[in-house]
Amino acid sequence: MVEDLFDKKEIGWKTIDENRKNEIFNFCDNYMNFLGKAKIEREFVKEARKAAETHGFRDLINFEKINPGDKVYFVNRDKSMYLAVIGKEKLENGINIIGAHIDSPRLDLKPNPLSEEGGLAYLKTHYYGGIKKYQWTTIPLSIHGVIIKRDGEKIDINIGEDENDPIFTITDLLPHLAQDQMQKKLSNGIEGENLQVLVGSIPYQAENEEEEKTLKETVKLNILNILNKKYGITERDFVSSELEVVPAFKPKSLGLDSSMIAAYGQDDKVCAYTSLQAILETENVEKTAVCILSDKEEIGSMGNTGMESHMFDFFVSELLNKAGENRPNLLDKLFCFSKMLSSDVDAGFDPLYASVSDAKNAGYLGKGISLNKYTGARGKSGASDANAEYVSYVRNMLEENDIKYQVAELGKVDVGGGGTIAYILANKGVDVIDCGVPVLSMHAPYEVTSKFDVYEAYRTYKSFWR
Ligand code: MN
Ligand code: MN
Repeated sequence: MVEDLFDKKEIGWKTIDENRKNEIFNFCDNYMNFLGKAKIEREFVKEARKAAETHGFRDLINFEKINPGDKVYFVNRDKSMYLAVIGKEKLENGINIIGAHIDSPRLDLKPNPLSEEGGLAYLKTHYYGGIKKYQWTTIPLSIHGVIIKRDGEKIDINIGEDENDPIFTITDLLPHLAQDQMQKKLSNGIEGENLQVLVGSIPYQAENEEEEKTLKETVKLNILNILNKKYGITERDFVSSELEVVPAFKPKSLGLDSSMIAAYGQDDKVCAYTSLQAILETENVEKTAVCILSDKEEIGSMGNTGMESHMFDFFVSELLNKAGENRPNLLDKLFCFSKMLSSDVDAGFDPLYASVSDAKNAGYLGKGISLNKYTGARGKSGASDANAEYVSYVRNMLEENDIKYQVAELGKVDVGGGGTIAYILANKGVDVIDCGVPVLSMHAPYEVTSKFDVYEAYRTYKSFWR
């Protein structure tokens, strides 16, 4: 039929039966449950490690030798993680990598965060990653992370998620007094320095009148007293902490048909979770399967938990050493023969903002996993552009497994652009393509995905390793 000449892009929901729909909804219930417990990278690593252990993965450090069939993981400073299922083929013939990132845009506490102004106590923040600042005011917020005390004790902090916890918020001007603010551009309507989290208003109760006279900043003092009683910390301990302010919303099914998911941090934990599930269920592979859960992507992948660091090379070298294969320059050979899916989210086509996308080259919610042959911006600058031969390999894999996929660009020419970890591995010689779940309201406190696409991502990653 002449009709078949068209590249038809079907709506995924119309192509599946009731059983598959139930499978999708069940899978996504587990995803939402996991995401609710893993809002920051450290929590993701903790949950991923637990899941890996239950699926028979063991810390690579404890292996003297590795053999085909072994399942190993490596945790880097509690913030990034690699998992591998050792294949029958020699490592030097190449490995199959899927890499996602587990950090998301948020507000980090400043090193000296606590302050008091006008009888209210605040925690000052410095935002992390690309955010629209106005979206982070007047929503419920929670605080996650760690404080390392002077004696080295590490305290896990998680306040604002439990039903009985208080939450926090950042205030904004009432419309009645916002005439000047409303004239400002959206980009500076809320100043970065005003992203201060409201945390208290009761002054410290002095023991006697004598003490009363000597005390200042009593609201701040009261907060420090509460923290001291609960965690045994003093103000100085904030300097050796990493505390992240994130939305206190729980992941929820979205829509009267419950077809979508609204949750914080789906960029890129939706791809991280689906990749993780896929490797947990991967067995008996020819080529070694490796899953990367990386940190710091949202601020350029720098630092020793980011993808630019040599930590991943170290991990793969350790695999070579422990498989008894290593010799000089073998790492380079391994990378040159390896394949990778950079599993990161794509900008979903938003009909309310259709003008920023090329409708023919956009990723739609519900049409399956979205491939980005290249990212970059303005003349593909900075892009890792996948080779046609490799796109063909990935496309065939998807079509053989009847996986719904779409090929997209991030926005119109000269409008859009972005980056992922793809180029970092590509620069090592690996064949890489970006592929992930389309997201609406990306980087907002509440991001939206389609359950259909989440499941197709999981199926893609499983098929890639198989
Ligand atoms: Mn991302
Ligand atoms: Mn992002």
